[in-house]
Amino acid sequence: MAEPTLLVVSAHAADFVWRCGGTMALYRQRGSRVRLLVLSYGERGESAEQWKMPGATLEKVKANRHQESAAAAAVIGADVRFFDLGDYPMHIDDGVIEELVREFRAVRPDIVLTHSAKDPYNMDHETAAEVTLKARVVAQALGMLPDIPIIGAPPVYAFEPHQSETCGFKPSFYVDITEVFPIKKKAMECMATQQYLWEYYEHVARRRGVLAVRNGGAKSTRYAEAFESYYPWAGPALPTVAAP
Ligand SMILES: [Zn+2]
Repeated sequence: MAEPTLLVVSAHAADFVWRCGGTMALYRQRGSRVRLLVLSYGERGESAEQWKMPGATLEKVKANRHQESAAAAAVIGADVRFFDLGDYPMHIDDGVIEELVREFRAVRPDIVLTHSAKDPYNMDHETAAEVTLKARVVAQALGMLPDIPIIGAPPVYAFEPHQSETCGFKPSFYVDITEVFPIKKKAMECMATQQYLWEYYEHVARRRGVLAVRNGGAKSTRYAEAFESYYPWAGPALPTVAAP
């Protein structure tokens, strides 16, 4: 059986790295295709350090964030597309939804990763989650772009937001990323603009690793990432704990 294909929708240049970079690297290492859509560079809201540099302009900030994000995607092994939709707020029109539908139908993902539905700290994260869910539903409709085959109903998992409790995030899954943590760390270090987050997200992964073991994961788990399922899981039986 072919390895599952992942589609990851990240609101801004770096979100995917902190929140699911390890899981992306893990699947990539096993031979999965990992398609990454970066909707915006986060040039206004998540690039403060860039704006402190003399002579900073919107175009310079965007170019630097593009370079960082592309470098991190390359470390992970994801093939990335940048939409440049702006931030604070992100600009979504029907054309964006249609492009995302085309992505869903071309990539035909087995797993979709995106933001949590609620994030009172950043409206763009909520927007990214909303358009991902919308595009997935529309991509299932026979009447939309009828010349391109529709998709089924791939599961959608929210990656962990920056402030989980306030976003109402409740983990459904912990993924053991211990073996690929060095790759995640290297990808995080591509994000020079947000260097203040490197250590924090190492700690998050370590804490999630402890909780993964507590919830039946392999004893060797040191680093993990958390995900929450948007939809019920459907299969021939209930999911079981993976063999250690
Ligand atoms: Zn963001």
